[in-house]
Parts: sequence; C-alpha cells; structure tokens
Amino acid sequence: MDAKAPITQDVLTIPRKAEDGLPNLIGLTRPAMRDALIAIGTPENQAKMRVGQIWQWIYHWGVRDFDLMTNLAKDYRTKLAENFVITLPEVVTRQVSEDGTRKYLVRIAGGHEVEVVYIPETDRGTLCISSQVGCTLTCSFCHTGTQKLVRNLTAAEVVGQIMVARDDLGEWPTQGAPKNETRLLSNIVLMGMGEPLYNFENVRDAMKIAMDPEGISLSRRRITLSTSGVVPEIARTASEIGCQLAVSFHATTDEVRDRLVPINKRWPIADLLDALRDYPKVSNSERITFEYVMLDGVNDTDEDAHRLIKLIDGIPAKINLIPFNEWPGAPYKRSSNNRIRKFADIIYKAGYASPIRTPRGEDIMAACGQLKSATERARKSRKQIAQEAGL
Ligand code: SAH
Ligand code: SF4
Repeated sequence: MDAKAPITQDVLTIPRKAEDGLPNLIGLTRPAMRDALIAIGTPENQAKMRVGQIWQWIYHWGVRDFDLMTNLAKDYRTKLAENFVITLPEVVTRQVSEDGTRKYLVRIAGGHEVEVVYIPETDRGTLCISSQVGCTLTCSFCHTGTQKLVRNLTAAEVVGQIMVARDDLGEWPTQGAPKNETRLLSNIVLMGMGEPLYNFENVRDAMKIAMDPEGISLSRRRITLSTSGVVPEIARTASEIGCQLAVSFHATTDEVRDRLVPINKRWPIADLLDALRDYPKVSNSERITFEYVMLDGVNDTDEDAHRLIKLIDGIPAKINLIPFNEWPGAPYKRSSNNRIRKFADIIYKAGYASPIRTPRGEDIMAACGQLKSATERARKSRKQIAQEAGL
C-alpha cells in the first residue's frame, strides 16, 4: 500500500452559498459578516453595530426570519432579505435511543449527509458533531473511514449542526422570559464524522461562532476537538481555537499504530507526543484526553498499559478507554470487560484518570466510530479494509 495514500487532503470545500444562490449569513465570522454588509451598502460606520444586532438575532435568539429583527429599520430588513439567506442543514431523520441519545441525519448542499449525535447525561448534554462527510483517513477500526465519498463541511454546516440540535431541544431563549441557566446542550465534541484538523479553517470559524459570548456562548472548556494526530495543525489548534484536545492514540508502538491509525506513518508516536507536550501551555487548557479504543488481542495487554504510561509521562493527561463499537464487517472484536477493567486499573494506579466510556445509543448505531451516512452505499469491502490495515 502507498504509505501516503490515506493521508492526503484532496477534498473540496464548496463555496459558502446556499443552493438558491444567495450567500448564507450563518457561518460568517464577525469580520466576514461586516464585509458582507458593507458590500450591500451598509455604511462603514454602522457596519459593526449591524453585525452585533444581526448576530444576536441569529445566535442568541435563534431567529431565521429577517422580518423578526425588529431593532432594524424595515427597509434595511428588506435589503438583507434580498441579499442573504439564513439557512441550516436539513434534518432528514431523527432517531431516539432507549437511553435518550438522539441521532440526526442532516442533509447539506449537494445532497450529502452527515450524522449528529446528542447524548444527555445527568449534569450536562453533549453534542457530537461532524467536520467532514466521510474521512480521507482510513483507520481500520472506524466505520466512517470505510466511506468513500469525502467533502469538507463549511463553517455554516459545522455550526449549523449545533443550531439544528438546539431547535430540536427547544433551547432558544424566549424573549421576556427569565434567563434559564441550565443547558440541555452544554458541551460539544468534534468526534463525529471526519478529521477536524483536515478542515481547520472551517472548524475554527465555526467554533469561534459557538464560543462567541453574544450568541451560543459555549466556553472553550466545553468544546473538545478530537484528532487522529495531524501534528502540524495541533499548535494552531492551541493558539487559534484554544479548546480542549483529545487525541486518538489507540496503540503504544508505531508498528501497531501504523495499522490502526495510518496517519501514524506520516507523523509517528514520538512526533505526536512532542506536539502534545506544548498544547496545554499554549492553549491554557488543563489536560489532554488520550482516547484508546480497546481491541481484543490487538492493543489491550498489560504491557500496552505500562508502555502507555511511560509514553505520556510529563503530559497532563486523562485516558479515555473506549470499548470498541462493532459495526457490520469490522475486522476487530471488543476486548472483554475484565480485560478493559484490568487495563484501566494499571493506568489508574499510575495516577491517571482512566474512565471507561459507556457506549451510548448502541441500538441506533450512534456510538463513536459507527457514524456513516445510511444512504452512502458505496463502501469498501471487508477484504479491502483488512488489506489496508495490513491484517
Ligand atoms: N477523526 C477524529 C474524530 C472522529 S472519531 C479522530 O479520529 O480523532 C472520534 C473517536 O472515535 C476517535 O477517538 C476514534 O478513534 C474513535 N472510534 C472510531 N471508530 C471507533 C469504533 N468503532 N469504536 C470505538 N471508537 C471508535
Ligand atoms: Fe477518520 Fe477519525 Fe475515523 Fe480515523 S477514526 S477514519 S481519523 S473519523
């Protein structure tokens, strides 16, 4: 197999235009929205204020109709409506699991589809969002990696996933009502489909919008970006987004990691760890989450646990053990509960938090790594997956 093949970034981002041709205001950063308003004749000395007003309507109140933006003059609202749209991805299906997990399939421009998962917990609610349709990487245990079609999501499509979930949860504030501080959607994880750091600018702009205090207003401590290890973009994530970082580690030797996470051939474990060491300082965040999927007989021995501890020595870390979520045709099995507990124990005794992630929404295939649009039929064969994994 060509070592460079799975780690190319040969995907397109479609222009930020809705299908009817008018540009979408959603997804524009504040400076970009300012430019867009000036381009339709808004006086420069008013543009910043107009951005603030429109921003609040869209991201604080959840308003999509220019006519409802009552602090803008009527003819200005008409002008906005003639020049812009405010559109979100369309929800195609919505499934609710026995445990309350919700999975949405949303359709974006070009007819592509991505999945979004909402996971309610007692003290918070986490939305797992996607950054790409499919993924160019081909991690051998990941269902998304078997999807052939790939395209980057626009910033509008990334932040739009948060907005459609808030619509479904009925979580936009009502004017005049007392402020409600309990958030159903309190956390974001970029752990859906795609490699967020292969779509850096769009993901960054979308997260800036989600963090903006005059809108959705989620703290950067409540946003976690998961990467398979795109080393050159890790420093940028720290300085330009500043969110929490999770890394799909999954193996303790390059030999095994090459097979599980092929991007390791380009940026091996030592390079990855170097990049991670600097992350907490630069982003002023606390701990890096090391995600570790437990695969029976592949990466789950006591020696692996001890090696893992040695490798991450000196990095403020939490290790998140993920029981492998099986999917039809997967070339691996989940490690036994006993094995996972033993592994967790070794890590815990070394002084690290080692939570075992409870699979959620299994009955609706909503668990991590199972996301793949149901209508995307083109898939690699079991043989091809095994071959690429060097099994
Ligand atoms: N591309 C990014 C983010 C999306 S994947 C990344 O790889 O980090 C989110 C997490 O789910 C990653 O840690 C990924 O390795 C893990 N994952 C993928 N397939 C899985 C599966 N079948 N079972 C359990 N975890 C899986
Ligand atoms: Fe892509 Fe992440 Fe799946 Fe790997 S684990 S194929 S990087 S989505």
